[in-house]
Amino acid sequence: MHELSIAGSLFDILQNIAKENNLKKIYKVTILAGRMRQIVPTAMEMAFTAVTAGSLAEGAKLEIEVVPIKMRCVSCSEEFSVWHNIYICPSCESAKLELLQGDELIVKNIEGED
Ligand SMILES: [Zn+2]
Repeated sequence: MHELSIAGSLFDILQNIAKENNLKKIYKVTILAGRMRQIVPTAMEMAFTAVTAGSLAEGAKLEIEVVPIKMRCVSCSEEFSVWHNIYICPSCESAKLELLQGDELIVKNIEGED
């Protein structure tokens, strides 16, 4: 379950943000997770609950917004979304692709109090 290590890094980020903003309590966290990260939302929520237990983020609600995978073809510059893990340009069938989005893991928003 790689969600646990992701939740661990997420918690480190949260602690830093809380320190910078003097937050005493975190109620809600929204993250942007690229589809490439293959995060299973229920597993991620469980892992998040586990790593935040006893901390200032205990009981916080985690919202996950999944970012679709987008690629640009290096040969013909076509931009397209990737579904079902097929990494081939739909217009020229080249496999030389450049990732535009889909591997991010970003804390988008935090709600808490100081
Ligand atoms: Zn192409």
